[in-house]
Amino acid sequence: MIEFNCRQCEKELKVDDSKAGLRGKCPRCSSIIIVPEASISGNEPIFVENDDFFSDNDLNKFYKQFSKNFEKHIYGHRISNEKWGDSARFELATGNRRSQLVWLLNFKNEADESNVGIFSFVGKITLMESAVRALQSVDSFAPYGISLDDNNRLILTTIIKISNLDQELFERTVVMVATKADELEELIFGVDKL
Ligand SMILES: [Zn+2]
Repeated sequence: MIEFNCRQCEKELKVDDSKAGLRGKCPRCSSIIIVPEASISGNEPIFVENDDFFSDNDLNKFYKQFSKNFEKHIYGHRISNEKWGDSARFELATGNRRSQLVWLLNFKNEADESNVGIFSFVGKITLMESAVRALQSVDSFAPYGISLDDNNRLILTTIIKISNLDQELFERTVVMVATKADELEELIFGVDKL
């Protein structure tokens, strides 16, 4: 079972592991909720404890400032060193009782340039017809890329060279990717039955 709290009314929710990544309505307050990949205890945001978590120092700086500026809009923050790079995941509130899972990945390309991939999970494809509809919507979501991961989750993506970023552009891009993922999710999925 995955246990977490509704971030609006704090109702304790328990759903089956197979529902990870799906979204539905809180039975108490009807807010849109996303089922996290693992249980989240409490409803407290967790911030970057390790000052130099990402291998890129500029990204560390942008991310720390972002965490402060968006303190009230970030939930369930987790960091991990993965084989393809350092990654941070969190849920970002995108407005009106909605939020998106965002994943940042710091990696180097073939030219040894430091990049950040900004990904937002749109939703889990459970029916082929929704996958087809998703692909038909791709054009209107340029310049973001769309891909499916191993768990059939549709992901909106953008990759930026860190030397091209400043604080404002970093924050704007993270928010834009999450907002666009939200729009796409609404178009394709509506609300899942949990
Ligand atoms: Zn609720």
